[in-house]
Amino acid sequence: MENRAPRGTRDVLPIDSGKWQYIEGKIHKVCRQFGYFEIRTPVFEHTELFKRGIGDDTDIVQKEMYTFDDKGGRSITLRPEGTAGAVRAYLEHNLHANTSPSRLYYICSCYRYEKPQAGRLREFHQFGAEMFGAGGATADVEAISMAVELLVSAGLSKLNVGINSVGCGECKSAYNNSLKEYFKGKEVCELCQNRLERNPMRVLDCKNPHCAEIAENAPKMIDILCGECAEHFKSVQDGLAALGIDFVIDSHIVRGLDYYTRTVFEITAGDIGAQNVVCGGGRYDRLVEQFGGKPTPAVGFAMGLERLLLCLEKCDIEVPGSDSPDVYIGWIGEEGRRCALKLAADLRGQAISVDLEVMERSPRAQMKYADKIGAGHSAIIGGDEVESGEFVLRDMRTGEERKYRINDVSTKGVEI
Ligand code: ATP
Ligand code: MG
Repeated sequence: MENRAPRGTRDVLPIDSGKWQYIEGKIHKVCRQFGYFEIRTPVFEHTELFKRGIGDDTDIVQKEMYTFDDKGGRSITLRPEGTAGAVRAYLEHNLHANTSPSRLYYICSCYRYEKPQAGRLREFHQFGAEMFGAGGATADVEAISMAVELLVSAGLSKLNVGINSVGCGECKSAYNNSLKEYFKGKEVCELCQNRLERNPMRVLDCKNPHCAEIAENAPKMIDILCGECAEHFKSVQDGLAALGIDFVIDSHIVRGLDYYTRTVFEITAGDIGAQNVVCGGGRYDRLVEQFGGKPTPAVGFAMGLERLLLCLEKCDIEVPGSDSPDVYIGWIGEEGRRCALKLAADLRGQAISVDLEVMERSPRAQMKYADKIGAGHSAIIGGDEVESGEFVLRDMRTGEERKYRINDVSTKGVEI
């Protein structure tokens, strides 16, 4: 039997799960502040959904999806990203019938068959947010500022926000033609030769240094945007400036997925090597329609949580880990056991975390254990305590001891 987790997956162990909970707590808080509500969609969807939503020409659909036939012969795919499922649910449950906009967010696992390396896994986690129904630039600014707010509240200070516009359908086709013209006869990699045929903008996203060098002087989309798209992009910049969010216009940001229109953005933080894009997003005004809905503008982003945690680690930013219990309670004898059980329940009722002795260790071993787990306080309940109705709570750091009446704990709690 294979005793290791599958390649590209990771267990989150108790020593680290506190960090995840901390980040997830920040996400829920920031989303509430921005008026977003959580949506949870299935881990798997019909394969067709991703093919249609993400685009046949993308790396994800071409080579990264976990696709299989279920026992009923349906083609199923583990979600490689969260947007397609969110759009499907938005349409299926008529969320558009509610007031506009709809603001949705999710924290979900995603699956991509990639070459595992630092910050690149086969099972990873995304925090994503999507706003449906608002076409104006203010929505784009809100999306970018929410992503920035989350990263800042997690502790990152040096963020690089790159923005670009990929225009509307018309701008895109004009731009693709000028890119084809520019790259004609230039020696780009084989993959890019193919991209030039099918989707020339993707050449700008190529990680091959030689292609990147050639792409350096390629025409820029923002120079040929139509009037309306140019206006929209300017308004996004105005909004970011009004919020004091520093950004650079980076004409190489085209994003991997086909569905983007107008604003696209990426945020990098710290130095986590090649995989330093912690958040990517943009506007996708045609996706809802593509899924059979009414034309509905939309804007959103997705953030890789493993990459975020990696950034925090690289930047030496302390993230609170898993907590030790507030109180350890040991006991001696049958009467002590009964009393300790009740005392633990009363303390928990006062929102105090308790580790109660369950190993039936000797009193000496109990004290050793309390120390080892880093309990904030400890108490041992034996015959004397049962008889007097009082117990001593010891502060494990200072050694200070306080006496309490056992029967008072359920109403008054203890000082910790
Ligand atoms: P990259 O260019 O690094 O492959 P991408 O464009 O494929 O990223 P998106 O589809 O935009 O990424 O996903 C949004 C975010 O999810 C990324 O910015 C990144 O933080 C995270 N992410 C994407 N793929 C992975 C992966 N395989 N492992 C861990 N995190 C990932
Ligand atoms: Mg990728």
